Amino acid sequence: MKSRLAVADSVLTRRLAGLVESGLLEKKAYDDGGRARQEYVLTPKGADALPVLNAVVMWAEKHLPAPSDQAHMYVIHSGCGQRTSSADTCTGCGERLTAANTSWHSLTRTDAPVQLATAA
Ligand SMILES: [Zn+2]
Repeated sequence: MKSRLAVADSVLTRRLAGLVESGLLEKKAYDDGGRARQEYVLTPKGADALPVLNAVVMWAEKHLPAPSDQAHMYVIHSGCGQRTSSADTCTGCGERLTAANTSWHSLTRTDAPVQLATAA
């Protein structure tokens, strides 16, 4: 997450704390081969925000100029691999979009779509 966002540790920590405080993420302990670690996972409140966030991405893609041809952002349904033009349902196959099956993709960031969350 830190390398994708290219932000300082303190900035990332502050942003994650804000998302936890807002109830969109929660910290959960897990065992990393003997080391106790913590991960951030979506809460039901955070998961329910996905259609809103997808709609903002689609609105921005439609109405705001991209700084370059590579800077476009697409919402991808990883189940079928198609770009969707609906915020809550894949327009390629009709499946409901969830954080576990949805990626946002911009060529300025990576060659491949980045999964929003891992399946539980
Ligand atoms: Zn699909």
